[in-house]
Amino acid sequence: MSTNELAPRKVPQVRTKYRRIVTDIPVPESIPILQKLRQFEPVSMSGQPPILWDRAEGIQVYDRWGNMWLDWSSGVLVTNAGHGHPKIRRAIQQQVEHGLLHNYCFPSEIRAQLTEALARVAPEGLKKVFLLTTGAEACECAIKLARTHGRKVGGDKKIAFVTFHNAFHGRTLGAQMAGGIPALKDWIVNLDKDFIQVPFPDGFRGPDTSFDGFLNALKQQGFTPDRIAGVMTETYQGGNASFAPPQYVQKLRAWCDEHKVLLAMDEVQAGFGRTGKLAGYQHYGIVPDLSTWGKGISSSLPISCVIGRADVMDLHPAGSMTSTHTGNPLCCAAALANIEIIEREGLVDRAARLGAILLSRLHAMKARHPQIGCVDGKGMVAAIACVKPGTTEPDADLAWAAVQESLFRGVLMFSPVGFGGGAIKICPPLSIPEDALAESLDVFEEAFASVVAHSEVA
Ligand code: PLP
Repeated sequence: MSTNELAPRKVPQVRTKYRRIVTDIPVPESIPILQKLRQFEPVSMSGQPPILWDRAEGIQVYDRWGNMWLDWSSGVLVTNAGHGHPKIRRAIQQQVEHGLLHNYCFPSEIRAQLTEALARVAPEGLKKVFLLTTGAEACECAIKLARTHGRKVGGDKKIAFVTFHNAFHGRTLGAQMAGGIPALKDWIVNLDKDFIQVPFPDGFRGPDTSFDGFLNALKQQGFTPDRIAGVMTETYQGGNASFAPPQYVQKLRAWCDEHKVLLAMDEVQAGFGRTGKLAGYQHYGIVPDLSTWGKGISSSLPISCVIGRADVMDLHPAGSMTSTHTGNPLCCAAALANIEIIEREGLVDRAARLGAILLSRLHAMKARHPQIGCVDGKGMVAAIACVKPGTTEPDADLAWAAVQESLFRGVLMFSPVGFGGGAIKICPPLSIPEDALAESLDVFEEAFASVVAHSEVA
């Protein structure tokens, strides 16, 4: 069954504390609704496993027909505090009752509370916060600020923006030009020549992990530092959950300082405890000039932000860097409650502790399966790269088969199609109980072994 097939399949029943599968999948009664989505939404929206989300709580996603999945997606790394946390629901309800649903850039107390809270959790040096709605919007803003700063310190030639191969920063025009996946930006055709990419030093797809790799790639593309305004990298590369070596990032930080280049860390995926640190860039022992955040900032409603150096954030005069839905009061209420939960429930340390278990189980799997080329991650995010054995060639079919087989057994992941070519991403809410993590890893191991056995027979 591909993501586009809607033929119900008989699957064994499952009933445990954390998982329940009691129907064919997809559920026959869900098919008219799935078809309606196919009819009225663009095809691009049909890439996920064909189950109909009805409600979600904690680590579980429910449909209307009695099925319950243990969620390894966090709804694409959003629900760090768990789905529908009661305190977040209450905070949203209270804000609704209070009676302010929108504020644009007019001053409001709840926006003041959230920007103060975000500045408090950010490191010294990053104390101004611009609230936005999506991760792409935050990354676009970082590009705008870096170019504005570049022109200020180096004139009109200092506008180039450096990002990394395989990087993902969102789907709007600037964010896609900054992205490092050529297939995603084919449609642009006349790409801005001042957006350039260099290899990401993950040691697997980008084998050269030395900082010389960065300098050489700039040289090969004919760029000298006086032309470069900014460098942006995902704190870890989302497609494969891969990190750069800390020494590389520290050298990058020093190089940026030396050449008046702004360093932006894209924390949209990594932030708010996902990697076992509140900000993922803390793993590198550096402070960026700009940081972009989204997803896990509220564990629910759409809100994002740029947190940065005051002198950079203040480059644009009053009224010239705004957004209609900046700091929407309901989203602010959700984010404030989320930050309190992450701190009170110790979710950052919890992610670090459980992440060690997750990673060690995945490494043990890799030792048994030559189809796993690489295991990466930290905290509650990990990815395995499915490959043709003995090569680094991605095996996207195997990845999809393993995701689907896990779904039939009650563990939900998002589709690996289009992301990281063959990578399977594991990113449950940080609040996942230890026994639920162990149970879901058992299920995944069984599912993976079963699809490998089938592919060997075929
Ligand atoms: N940056 C990173 C690292 C992301 O992973 C994503 C989304 O997956 C984005 C930016 C874009 O965020 P959004 O989809 O909210 O625009």
